Amino acid sequence: MLDLRRWRRKRADERFPVKLRTRVLQLVRRGATPADAARAVDLPVQTIHSRSRIDPAWQARLDKALMAGRRPDVPHGTPSGYRYHKCHCPECRAAHRSPAS
Ligand SMILES: [Zn+2]
Repeated sequence: MLDLRRWRRKRADERFPVKLRTRVLQLVRRGATPADAARAVDLPVQTIHSRSRIDPAWQARLDKALMAGRRPDVPHGTPSGYRYHKCHCPECRAAHRSPAS
């Protein structure tokens, strides 16, 4: 079980090496969406998101970058922030998921 986890982690590190992770965080911090950042490093956006499953710290770093790079003129934490402004910051994602919207 532990070996499998280690193997998955190794595979994920090879697919999305630290150099590219740093680059993605940098781009997102400057206002790129995860999709834009993925395109810039030539990876499917899914690779960026799926890493959170094996590396919870990654999600935290990505969220921090999203908060730093989000546009000030978007109504964050509302469904339209996510839907119309394509903001993926943690607040907009939460509003998007909320059934009350
Ligand atoms: Zn937002």
